[in-house]
Amino acid sequence: MARYVFITGGVVSSLGKGLASAALGALLQARGYSVRLRKLDPYLNVDPGTMSPFEHGEVFVTDDGAETDLDLGHYERFTGVSARKTDSVSSGRIYSTVLEKERRGDYLGKTIQVIPHVTNEIKDFIAIGDDEVDFMLCEIGGTVGDIEGLPFFEAIRQFAQDRPRGECVFMHLTLLPWIGAAGELKTKPTQHSVKELRSIGIAPDVLVCRSDKPIPEKEREKIALFCNVRKEDVIAAPDLKSIYEAPLAYHREGLDQAVLDAFRIAPAPAPNLSVWEDVADRIFNPEGEVRVAIVGKYTQLEDAYKSIAEALTHGGMAHRVRVTLEWIDAEIFEREDPAPYLEGFHAILVPGGFGERGTEGKIKAAEFARTREIPYLGICLGMQMAVIEAARNLAGMENAGSQEFDHEAGEERFEPVIFHLKEWVKDNQKIARTVLDDKGGTMRLGAYAATLEPGSKVAEVYGTTTIEERHRHRYEVDIKYREKLEAVGLKFSGMSPDGRLPEIVEWPDHPWFIGVQFHPELKSKPFAPHPLFEGFVGAAKEVSRLV
Ligand code: GLN
Repeated sequence: MARYVFITGGVVSSLGKGLASAALGALLQARGYSVRLRKLDPYLNVDPGTMSPFEHGEVFVTDDGAETDLDLGHYERFTGVSARKTDSVSSGRIYSTVLEKERRGDYLGKTIQVIPHVTNEIKDFIAIGDDEVDFMLCEIGGTVGDIEGLPFFEAIRQFAQDRPRGECVFMHLTLLPWIGAAGELKTKPTQHSVKELRSIGIAPDVLVCRSDKPIPEKEREKIALFCNVRKEDVIAAPDLKSIYEAPLAYHREGLDQAVLDAFRIAPAPAPNLSVWEDVADRIFNPEGEVRVAIVGKYTQLEDAYKSIAEALTHGGMAHRVRVTLEWIDAEIFEREDPAPYLEGFHAILVPGGFGERGTEGKIKAAEFARTREIPYLGICLGMQMAVIEAARNLAGMENAGSQEFDHEAGEERFEPVIFHLKEWVKDNQKIARTVLDDKGGTMRLGAYAATLEPGSKVAEVYGTTTIEERHRHRYEVDIKYREKLEAVGLKFSGMSPDGRLPEIVEWPDHPWFIGVQFHPELKSKPFAPHPLFEGFVGAAKEVSRLV
């Protein structure tokens, strides 16, 4: 049976609960334990797949094809444990399961209520895979006191009560605001937040307090006294220069020790933090800098491309360079020449996206990278745009485009080089999509294998010819156009194992130009940078040396 750490937050949102959870996971691993992290989100969307990246940040995709909260990306980046469908759930999902069961008559005529039906569903979810790991870390989204979060808080309270004593520990994150006029860090919001938690039956064992100043001894004692924890259980969480410093910083503050103490594990196994020391060393002691332009649509909110930004940082760590990112709105290039914007960058990345807006600008960016021989990485939509660019500008198909975007139905000369895939194979099974499908969950999602052309750039980058990467898209490059495109030099260097779906394209004569139909950024880790990002940043580093 696993031991459980429940992570909750109070006072304000955005305190970095996900990061604290991920860092704790990494620290427990460093002490030799196995862990799994889970996110329980109170919102009513059944999954984040249909939420706008502007509102909710990127949608993280798991190997088994779940569209989840971006916090699962942090979990994977810090622990290396691949998340599963069963590691992320929302109120929407819980309620829809309960309602389905009710319709099926599973409850045998009972009145269906939040307690016990909804809370039981949550508890069952929490316990999935209970016997697989030493520690299960469950983060509850939102803040204590939110109406929609209540069933989750009630469920974890009951869960701890159902288990043998000492098997569940509650960790609560709060904020200590600095009041300049008084020259003090204030503990009252933390006291209130803990009071709120205790009023629903949860007494936190460990308090993680975010503040931009060190916590003076006096305030620490006060928090301990009023919140009913030991002084050592008040963990300071100062702002960090890099998120990858978090495991070391939390360890210095005693987080893992406090958690193990709360479980009464003594003596606790000593941690081996060498991986994180190396990561921190690479981040804080770069030997150069490369500048990468990201030409995208959701450029106002960095979280919309969270995994890409992190994967580029990892690529930089592999080469000991700092990667400076600049986000450029693709729409600008629909009005203006991209040259003045893109000159001076050492590499260009066009990320994934949905819908037509900005796509003509992305095509311009791909053209600029190709003709100026600047390293280019096109991810999903970014690959599709590179293919359209080649079709239009080199293969003589000036009306090449994607079926994703508006065009007159039946328009004669339209060449759908990117077409809407309706049927494909997964694990030897045919999957079909109909127009009647809901918006959510109709994409090619999760891990699919690809076969790489021996001798190609990607085969060299990966160091192998069989790979497996995560997908999230509806449209594909149409193999019908392969011959025409290869005739002008665009090589289809990675294909689905059945040879029907192009997975990777590259320009062999270009220093580094690769487009991939999948999302490599989702699998990159600071301690194991993804080969494509390592290769891409390496190529950018070459360019930076030349200028
Ligand atoms: N909109 C494109 C598709 O659905 C690309 C998706 C993506 O970039 N993730 O195929």
